[in-house]
Amino acid sequence: MDSVGVAAAAPDAGPGPAWQSKCPWGAPSTTSISCSLADVMSEQLAKELQLEEENAAFPEVVAAAEGPFITGENIDTSSDLMLAQMLQMEFDREYDAQLRREEKKINGDSKVSISFENYRKVHPYDSDSSEDEVDWQDTRHDPYRADKPTTTPRRGFIGKGKDITTKHDEVVCGRKNTARMENFAPEFQVGDGIGMDLKLSNQVFNALKQHAYSEERRSARLHEKKEHSTAEKAVDPKTRLLLYKMVNSGMLETITGCISTGKESVVFHAYGGNSTTEDKVIPPECAIKVFKTTLNEFKNRDKYIKDDYRFKDRFSKLNPRKIIRMWAEKEMHNLTRMQNAGIPCPQVVILKKHVLVMSFIGQDQVPAPKLKDVTLSSEDMKKAYYQILNMMQQLYRECNLVHADLSEYNMLWHDGKVWLIDVSQSVEPTHPHGLEFLFRDCRNVSQFFQKGGVAEALNERELFNAVSGLNITADNEVDFQAEIEALEKMNEDHVQNHGKKLSTFSSDGDPPIYDE
Ligand code: ADP
Ligand code: MN
Repeated sequence: MDSVGVAAAAPDAGPGPAWQSKCPWGAPSTTSISCSLADVMSEQLAKELQLEEENAAFPEVVAAAEGPFITGENIDTSSDLMLAQMLQMEFDREYDAQLRREEKKINGDSKVSISFENYRKVHPYDSDSSEDEVDWQDTRHDPYRADKPTTTPRRGFIGKGKDITTKHDEVVCGRKNTARMENFAPEFQVGDGIGMDLKLSNQVFNALKQHAYSEERRSARLHEKKEHSTAEKAVDPKTRLLLYKMVNSGMLETITGCISTGKESVVFHAYGGNSTTEDKVIPPECAIKVFKTTLNEFKNRDKYIKDDYRFKDRFSKLNPRKIIRMWAEKEMHNLTRMQNAGIPCPQVVILKKHVLVMSFIGQDQVPAPKLKDVTLSSEDMKKAYYQILNMMQQLYRECNLVHADLSEYNMLWHDGKVWLIDVSQSVEPTHPHGLEFLFRDCRNVSQFFQKGGVAEALNERELFNAVSGLNITADNEVDFQAEIEALEKMNEDHVQNHGKKLSTFSSDGDPPIYDE
C-alpha cells in the first residue's frame, strides 16, 4: 500500500506541511487486509473498472469506435455526425443514380430488362418511383412532403421569394439537394461507380448509425453518472475530505485500509487518535463505515425507511445524498439503543454525514470473523445460540427494534461471544413490515443453528413467538405468515383510524394495548 499515493490522491485536502510531515494515512501495513486503501481510492482504478463495466454492458460502443472514421476520442460528435450522415446519404444516392444509368445502358431498348434494384443503397423512401426517379419532384409522390401536395416546384425548392427558407424547408432542402444531384448531367463524376470504396462507405454509414445510437445512450448514461456520482463511489472526493479531516483533527491516528466493500457500504479500519475535542474516549481501533448506495439499492431499501415513522416526514423531501446520510444516522441511533441495552455491538464514536465511525470488533486490524466463517465447538455453538436468543429478545423488548438483516453474515464472533453489527436497516416492530422482517430473522437464525447441530434450537415459529411474546399458533409456515400479516394490517388500520399505532401487538384476542 502506497501511503504517499493515497495522500496525493486526495485533491481537496490541499498540500501543507502538517500532513506532509505526519502522514495521516499511516505507515504501510503488511497485515491481512483484503484490499488496500490506495486501491479503493485510486481514481485510475475506478476509471478502469468503470470502463470495463461499460464495455461489458454496452459492447456496441466499442464496435462503433472501431469503425473507419469514428474513434473513441470523438466525444462531441452530434453535429459532425449529422453532417457525415448527410454526406453518406448523398454518396449512396449518387451510387444509386450511377446504378440506374448503368442499368439503362445495359437494357437499352430491349424488351427484357435486367434490374439492379437489389444493389441500391437507398431503399426506404424513393424506391417506389424507381423508374423515373429523376423527376420525382414533379410528381405528387414526394416522399418527404406527403401531406403538402400543393405547389410542387419544378426547380427543387419550395416556396416563393423570401419564404423559401422556413425551418421545415431547411430539412427538405437538404434532402432535395441530395436528390438534385441525381439531376446532374450524366458526365458528372460521382466516383468509381460500383467499386469497393462505395461498399466500404456503406459500412461507414452503418458504423455511423450505430455510433449515433450508442452516443445517445452514452450521453444519457453520462448524465446519470454526473447526477449520482456520490452514489456510485463511496469514496468520492468529498468523502476523502471527511476522512482526511478526521485524521487531521486527531480523532483518528491512521486509516490503515479497507476491511469490506459491500454493495451498500465500504468499511475501513483505523487506529483511534487521542483527540480531546469531543469528550469521548476514542477506541484504540475503529471501524469507519462509509455508506454508499446506487439508485437501485436505494430503491430496494426504500421500504425499510419509508415506512419507519421516525423518518417518515423527512423521507419525501430528501434527495439521494441525504437519504444515504439517513441510513448512517439510522445505524447510529440503532447502535446507541443496543449499547444502552447492553447488547454486544460496535460503540458509536461519531457520525459525519454518511460516514459512521464506531469501535472496531476485532484486534490488530484483523476484524472478528463472521459467524458463518468461524468454526465453533459444539459447546460454543450452543452458547452462541442462547446468547442470540437472548439478544433478539432484548432487541425487541428493550430497544424496540427488529434487526431486519439478522443472519450469520451480520454476527461476529469475538471475545468468546456474538456481536451484532449492520443495523442501518433495523426497524421498530410496529413498522408495517416489522413482524415479517422478524420472522425472516428468526428463520435465518433457526436454520443456522439447526444445521450447526444445536439440538435445542427452536424452529423459526417458536423462535418468533419467544422473541416477540406473541402467541401465534399456526403450525405451518404459510398460516403463520398469514397471521403475521394480519397483525401488521391491524396495526396499519389502527393508524388509519386513530392516527396512531399500537404500541404492542397481541394475538390472543386481548384488546390491543395503546400508548397514551
Ligand atoms: P454491509 O451493509 O456492507 O453488510 P456491515 O455493517 O455488515 O455492512 O459491514 C460489512 C463488514 O465490515 C462486516 O461484515 C464486517 O466484516 C466488517 N465490519 C463492519 N463493522 C465492523 C466493526 N465495527 N468492527 C469490525 N468489523 C466490522
Ligand atoms: Mn452486513
